[in-house]
Amino acid sequence: MLNANRRRVTSRGTTSKACRMISCMAALPEPSLVLSFEEARHLVDEHATRLQPRGKELLELLESAGRVLAEPVPADRNFPPFHRAMRDGYAVRAADLSPLPATLDVIGEIKAGARQDGLPTLQPGQTVAIMTGAPAPPGADAVVMVEHTSLVGSRVQIMTGAAAGENIATAGSEAKRGELLLSKGRRLDYAAIAIAASTGRSRLLVYRKPQIAILATGDEIVDIDVPLAPHQIRNSNSYSLAAQVQMAGGEPVILPIAPDEPQRLRELIADGLEADLLLLAGGVSMGKYDLVEPILAESQAEFFFTGVRIQPGKPVVFGRVPQGRGRIADEQPASTPEHVYFFGLPGNPVSTMVTFELFARPVIEALAGMTPRKLVFLSATLKSEIKTKTGLKRFLPAILSGEFEHAEVELARWHGSGDVAAMARSNCYIVIPPDRERIAAGEWVPVLMM
Ligand code: AMP
Ligand code: MG
Repeated sequence: MLNANRRRVTSRGTTSKACRMISCMAALPEPSLVLSFEEARHLVDEHATRLQPRGKELLELLESAGRVLAEPVPADRNFPPFHRAMRDGYAVRAADLSPLPATLDVIGEIKAGARQDGLPTLQPGQTVAIMTGAPAPPGADAVVMVEHTSLVGSRVQIMTGAAAGENIATAGSEAKRGELLLSKGRRLDYAAIAIAASTGRSRLLVYRKPQIAILATGDEIVDIDVPLAPHQIRNSNSYSLAAQVQMAGGEPVILPIAPDEPQRLRELIADGLEADLLLLAGGVSMGKYDLVEPILAESQAEFFFTGVRIQPGKPVVFGRVPQGRGRIADEQPASTPEHVYFFGLPGNPVSTMVTFELFARPVIEALAGMTPRKLVFLSATLKSEIKTKTGLKRFLPAILSGEFEHAEVELARWHGSGDVAAMARSNCYIVIPPDRERIAAGEWVPVLMM
């Protein structure tokens, strides 16, 4: 973990990047702010846990699917509300079932939807036919599946025994009235929507989506709907990032493409810092025209890291500026406690996507009101040998396949961090530790799902 002084921008921190191109406007971060993957992720998580969502809104139940719950949802009644049969069959007194087979008198039938007040009470030697979802009658403590019975006239022969409680969900066994079913901060997936519906909630209070500014940079980058010269590259990063932002629970705000020129870049960064989080793509490498860090440094940016020992995505930058410092002309008082965070993601499209998932996602989830999800690594057997260089933790696009429990994984054929086509063929990343040079076919390897 870095200490506070090292995180700060200091005048000592000028690097070879510092005085390129623009006449050294502000101090750049220290060159030593290159972290391991784990250090960088912990640092991001630490900041994310301190972030607050931005307000709440009331939505119709179905509109709230995928959003983040901003109120607790308790059980409005017992779940189930009555002793509920879990199978079609016969409600019995378990003690009546020995010796086997046992023959019982069928005194009636209970359908799902039957009122509880009209139910017969089972006496010894009696049973009722019962359907799944129907209330079990007083006296019954088990349901025997119809498959294990044979009805002859008004009597039924039962072939198997039953333990007390079998195939009956007792009232309140799933949740007691008033018990918390959904907590604040939970993403409303289909199970949560089912709970909201079951508790009679036709509207839910959810957190407002945070506004996430997206700023692609580069003189060669043009937008997707303009005619393209041969030397130009279409802007894919703004769109892949916008899609990732949406999936993480944010509202993307795509800014115009910034050229590799300080004045316009400065204006657009200032616009981006009006949002809840700014994602920059490109302009953070060691090239002469990579101006993102120096311009951010002008806004008194605090840099937490300026590189992570990973591939793809090594030049990724994370930091924050004091709220209101994006616009240099109308500065706000220095006492304003809040900050706007930013990520400078490398511009190679695969690097942009990977670094978003590894670092930006938890911050967006936190701003959206969610408890950020942990990265979950699965294991699969490697289909064919991998050889790499040591020194970086690698997250390489890969294809997970196999039948049922036998998951196999192999690297996608790819031509480096610009190869979006390889990314589109992949469904996961193989994670290669920094100390491995060779991984043999058949070994278990960690896999991160996309
Ligand atoms: P940079 O990080 O600015 O050095 O860019 C690295 C590579 O990614 C260059 O080949 C860029 O052309 C490409 N690139 C940068 N930004 C984008 C973008 N928005 N869309 C597609 N490719 C990009
Ligand atoms: Mg560039």
